[in-house]
Amino acid sequence: MRITGDALQTDGSTIWPEATKMSDVIAYETGHGLYLNITNRCPCDCIFCVRKDKTGVNIGENLWLSREPTYDEIIGALRARDIASYDEIVFCGFGEPTERLDTLLEVAFYIKENHPTQRTRLNTNGLSDLINGKPTAELLSKNVDMASISLNASNKTEYQRICRPVFGESSFDAMLFFALESKRCFKDTCFTIVDSIGKAEIDDCKNLCEKLGIRLRVRAAISE
Ligand code: SF4
Repeated sequence: MRITGDALQTDGSTIWPEATKMSDVIAYETGHGLYLNITNRCPCDCIFCVRKDKTGVNIGENLWLSREPTYDEIIGALRARDIASYDEIVFCGFGEPTERLDTLLEVAFYIKENHPTQRTRLNTNGLSDLINGKPTAELLSKNVDMASISLNASNKTEYQRICRPVFGESSFDAMLFFALESKRCFKDTCFTIVDSIGKAEIDDCKNLCEKLGIRLRVRAAISE
C-alpha cells in the first residue's frame, strides 16, 4: 500500500481502507531504543514493506495513525518516558520520517537541547531531497547523530523493481547522493539491505558500499 501526501486531508487525517484499524502510537520501543512514528506517508511501495501485511513491528502493535501527531504531541510522548533509559531515539515508524522534515528537525532539536548526550538516529529511504525539493542531509545532521539509509538494491533497475518510488528512475541516484552527503555530515552513516534479496544481489550491494566507503548492514526481513 502506498500512502502519499495525496491521501491526507486538510485537517491532517487520512483516508484509509475500511478494514484498516487505526491508532495513535507515536512512540514505541524496540530493543533498547525508543522509536518515533510521526507519519504514515512514504513515496515508495517496496515489495517487502512490513506495512503490507502487518500493523506494527512488535506483536499487538498498531502503527497506522488516524492523523499525524503534532509537534506538541510528539514532545508529550517523549516527556512521558524516561529518555535517558534508552540507548537511542530513532525516527522510524510506519512511513518515511523525512516526509515531515520540519517537524522532525524541531523534535531532534528538542531532544538535543534537553538531553544533549542522547543518541539520535534517522531510519530513512534516502529520498528526502526529492521529497523536500532541496538538499537535506546537512540540515538533518545538526541534531541527528546517525543516518541509516535503505539501499535495498545494487543498481537503478533493481531499485525501481523493489522500491517502486513515485519519483521514477532518478530515485536511485538521488538516494546515493543523499548517502554520500550523509557520510560527509552525520557522525555515523550506514546502508541497510534485507537478506531476502538473494546472495548475488547482496554481494553486489557489498561491492557498491565498499566503493562508496559506507558500511552495510544486512538485516533480516521482518516476518512472523
Ligand atoms: S521505504 Fe520503508 S515504509 Fe516506504 S514502502 Fe519502503 S519499506 Fe515501506
